[in-house]
Amino acid sequence: MTIGDQRETFLIKPSLLEVAMGEKILDHTTFPLRAIVEHHALFIHNRVDHIDPERQQIFIDGAVLPYDIL
Ligand SMILES: Cc1cc2nc3c(=O)[nH]c(=O)nc-3n(C[C@H](O)[C@H](O)[C@H](O)COP(=O)(O)OP(=O)(O)OC[C@H]3O[C@@H](n4cnc5c(N)ncnc54)[C@H](O)[C@@H]3O)c2cc1C
Repeated sequence: MTIGDQRETFLIKPSLLEVAMGEKILDHTTFPLRAIVEHHALFIHNRVDHIDPERQQIFIDGAVLPYDIL
């Protein structure tokens, strides 16, 4: 399994409500993706430029990656 994201941190969107209510600080709504993901999968930190669903290919950082399930 490969997980790609343009950001190094994941934002827990539902927690934004708690930030707005003053119950949580913004830093507590994110966690580092690489540290968690790399135990289970390959992490690619980059922006996906294009997805070709017919050929099942992802274009990322000048490379073309095939996929079975997206
Ligand atoms: C206030 C609020 C409350 C919510 N409450 C609930 C709830 O109680 N229960 C529930 O099930 N859902 C809830 N949701 C919805 C839930 O947060 C979303 O369904 C979920 O975040 C969607 O996950 P996702 O991974 O599809 O998208 P996202 O969380 O938006 O993640 C998309 C990721 O893709 C990355 N990305 C985007 N474009 C590119 C690109 N071109 N290349 C590389 N990476 C890219 C982004 O950096 C991001 O990390 C809530 C949402 C909000 C805003």
